[in-house]
Amino acid sequence: MLDLEYSEKLEKVRMSMNTLSKSMLRPIARKYDEAEHEYPKELDVFRGLSVMGGKKKKKDGDTDKKKEKVASDTGTNLGTIVTVEEMCWGDVGLLLSIPNAGLGNAAISAVATEEQLEKFGGKWAAMAITEPESGSDSGSICTTAVLDGDEWVLNGEKIFVTCADRCDAVVVWATVDKEAGKAGIKSFVVEKGTPGFKLEHLEHKLGIRASDTGTFVLKDCRIPKENLLGSSEVKKTEGFKGVMKTFDNTRPMVAAMANGVAKAAVDFTREKLEEAGYNLDYSKNPGNLSAVEKDFYWMEAHLDAMRLLTLRAAWMADNEEFNNLEASMSKAKAGRYGTLITQKCCELMGPLGYSRENLAEKWMRDSKILDIFEGTGQIQHLIIARNILNLSSKELK
Ligand SMILES: Cc1cc2nc3c(=O)[nH]c(=O)nc-3n(C[C@H](O)[C@H](O)[C@H](O)COP(=O)(O)OP(=O)(O)OC[C@H]3O[C@@H](n4cnc5c(N)ncnc54)[C@H](O)[C@@H]3O)c2cc1C
Repeated sequence: MLDLEYSEKLEKVRMSMNTLSKSMLRPIARKYDEAEHEYPKELDVFRGLSVMGGKKKKKDGDTDKKKEKVASDTGTNLGTIVTVEEMCWGDVGLLLSIPNAGLGNAAISAVATEEQLEKFGGKWAAMAITEPESGSDSGSICTTAVLDGDEWVLNGEKIFVTCADRCDAVVVWATVDKEAGKAGIKSFVVEKGTPGFKLEHLEHKLGIRASDTGTFVLKDCRIPKENLLGSSEVKKTEGFKGVMKTFDNTRPMVAAMANGVAKAAVDFTREKLEEAGYNLDYSKNPGNLSAVEKDFYWMEAHLDAMRLLTLRAAWMADNEEFNNLEASMSKAKAGRYGTLITQKCCELMGPLGYSRENLAEKWMRDSKILDIFEGTGQIQHLIIARNILNLSSKELK
């Protein structure tokens, strides 16, 4: 049976996150947009809490449970999606600043061993893939990792790292064998304070200004051998699979961020239109709609599509279905339409949408990044096309 309603458990999560977002994040959204780089100390209450879910440790008997797979509508990914959307309705920059909820944490959850989960699970981890000469084509990264005795020695530069200043550790992508191409790329946990690991500077940004973004330089940076996530073996047939697995979980999460910001813009637009005397009557013949009503229904319809695609991708992840295509579809749609919806809100609101008295102009600035990081919209379309046409990354570039 097709059931598009949230389960009772998920609805409870949504309601409590909505209350939290309204009472804690929305009231300080403007403050930390203005005070760029300042840590929002109000978020300290989240320390030690697993707001964004996390991988549960395997217990004896879990393997048998997997065999008798039952459709799950209350798994970690769905719970996270609902949480992220509600929190981003409050403020996306603040969501990105919640302690211990970095993209590096998602990477650790996706591929870490039990011992690594024990060691790094409690740390706030950022994720460093992008380099000055490598962005969308992450297979071309130049940072190197060379094994020397019981240590890896890392050298390179990582730019635009979210939570750079505030995190405890960074999951750094580096190549152990440049000749092997993508298969040689591995991820390593580098803890703050490690000699040779330096935060160079923080960026000044258009949006998500509550979130700190910075550049790291790694110069003969030595880390323990066991800080490599996953296997050190270079399997040319497997290519990028290990590290790319993370994205199938994090892309729906970024889509959920876009959904939350877009929903904030839609809610604000509805409120202001109703105050201005518009009677939003859904039973009206489309031919009788005013241009403003038509635009508003366009915003709502796309928001619905964004949310459904995101929920599908997360549901598949919870049910251990391969969701590479669906994760990219959710990110492509939500990233792009998040920016269009927030722009439309400013357009319909006129001066209200341009004034710093309201958050509409901020949502327009904040939403842009959600179509950029974790793979730009264009890259998502490329992945979608490869999946549908059954072509490899070499065949379709
Ligand atoms: C605020 C912020 C936070 C970030 N946080 C992180 C982080 O925490 N960790 C991290 O590793 N990175 C992070 N990034 C980096 C981000 O992931 C990259 O900016 C993004 O992947 C794009 O890479 P690029 O900037 O090098 O653009 P490029 O790859 O140079 O792309 C430039 C343009 O060309 C397009 N393009 C590129 N290749 C193709 C193609 N094959 N087909 C069609 N179009 C193409 C792109 O879509 C884009 O529009 C962050 C960036 C910002 C701005």
